[in-house]
Amino acid sequence: MAWEYAPAPESADLARIEPAYGLFVDGKFVPAADGRTFTTINPASEEPLAEVAAAGPADVDRAVKSARAAFDEVWSRMPGGGRAKYLYRIARILQERAREFAVLESLDNGKPIRESRDVDVPLAAAHFFYHAGWADKLEYAGFGPAPHPLGVAGQVIPWNFPLLMAAWKLAPALAAGNTCVLKPAETTPLSALLLAEVCQQAELPPGVVNIVTGAGETGASLVDHPGVAKIAFTGSTEVGKQIRKAVAGTGKKLTLELGGKAANVVFDDAPLDQAVEGIVNGIFFNQGHVCCAGSRLLVQESVAGPVVERLKRRMATLRLGDPLDKNTDIGAINSRQQLDKIMELSEAGEAQGAGRWSPPCQLPERGYWFAPTVFTGVSQSHRIAREEIFGPVLSVLTFRTPEEAVTKANNTPYGLSAGVWTEKGSRILWMAQRLRAGVVWANTYNRFDPASPFGGYRESGFGREGGRHGLEAYLDV
Ligand code: NDP
Repeated sequence: MAWEYAPAPESADLARIEPAYGLFVDGKFVPAADGRTFTTINPASEEPLAEVAAAGPADVDRAVKSARAAFDEVWSRMPGGGRAKYLYRIARILQERAREFAVLESLDNGKPIRESRDVDVPLAAAHFFYHAGWADKLEYAGFGPAPHPLGVAGQVIPWNFPLLMAAWKLAPALAAGNTCVLKPAETTPLSALLLAEVCQQAELPPGVVNIVTGAGETGASLVDHPGVAKIAFTGSTEVGKQIRKAVAGTGKKLTLELGGKAANVVFDDAPLDQAVEGIVNGIFFNQGHVCCAGSRLLVQESVAGPVVERLKRRMATLRLGDPLDKNTDIGAINSRQQLDKIMELSEAGEAQGAGRWSPPCQLPERGYWFAPTVFTGVSQSHRIAREEIFGPVLSVLTFRTPEEAVTKANNTPYGLSAGVWTEKGSRILWMAQRLRAGVVWANTYNRFDPASPFGGYRESGFGREGGRHGLEAYLDV
């Protein structure tokens, strides 16, 4: 029999979206106690995707109690090799269902499918694989002969990398023997709920992972719950400060991964075309919704002209539009609120005298969009040089000497990441020793690996995620 041609299914059909989702508590999907729900939308079209249960304090309490029971009765007693088995299963199922996850993530978040397919989903699986490897080797991790888990971990995550942040939080916590209650962001709950389905598929014991969807109040209820032993938060510095106050004096362990205003420093001896690719990746990846985005370009004065010229030429080739189109480079902004913030800061940039430029770019009529934008002539006092914009907006500053580059790079309340572009290895090391940033990339940008610890200084938070260091946050050491 001859093969019949079957057209490829529309990408959107690859992800099954239910009309309504419950909370994931004690291994089951359940409605909120008071029946409240909220709508999650597709930011590229403003169309509703699903109704999602909004967890109130009673639901958070139920989830924490379920996690505690699972900790006491099952998970903390299970040998590390047993926990590893479940983590490996989750990792493999994530790989098997990668297309479904990638499509769902792009629909709910607005990020280009090329990024969800090539970055978010594979890295999420890699985090489970990596931490599965640690689960039966914790006594060799350098935290003493018998490190203990803490109990129930309360985890609150943002909307910029919904699945990946869930993996960053859950995998180390579970490997170390803790049980979890996770609160995804209100605008991007769907991939976490699909991950809950994966937990069921992997036959993870009920209560080991609980997912409570809702708004900021749900996160606050989780932070305040007395049954939680550890809080892990990724999000804005403002909410991070509130959480730190709420947790002070309670004995709860805390890690905070907050905002950033990273300097991407280009010296005159750098390979300029390669540096331009790194600048583009640093600020336009994920529409600039990246805590470690290279949002301040510091370029040596002698090459500033050619770098900005090549950058503009490259920016003119970026394709903005449908997140499910594999050729799209820049997708939708995640929410109206975030779009308003980007517009407000960009207007402040112009009002304060910086030169604004975007390539000619037709924005779709519906949805939330912002053209890739570069500001030149930026000074250190401008708001666009100081505040986290969290959008596809780059501020260009110049320097003359390496010392000036360090001073300018460190002139920020944040300290999460930085990039250095130069041909000289000795200069890379010299810079890395002086930059007050948790991560310094050399001749590359936005590279992530589960074995490599990630985290900040000062207003970027404290504690590390990933690697051996990341395990410490989930162990009683
Ligand atoms: P938030 O810090 O408000 O959100 C992060 C997470 O915390 C979400 O799950 C949120 O829920 C939850 N949350 C909100 N308020 C509380 C609270 N009082 N107690 C506990 N949890 C809470 O970030 P936004 O989404 O509002 O973004 C605002 C700005 O923050 C952005 O413009 C950007 O500059 C920065 N940001 C930085 C991130 C980073 O990775 N560094 C990530 C996200 C944002 P809900 O989503 O329902 O509000």
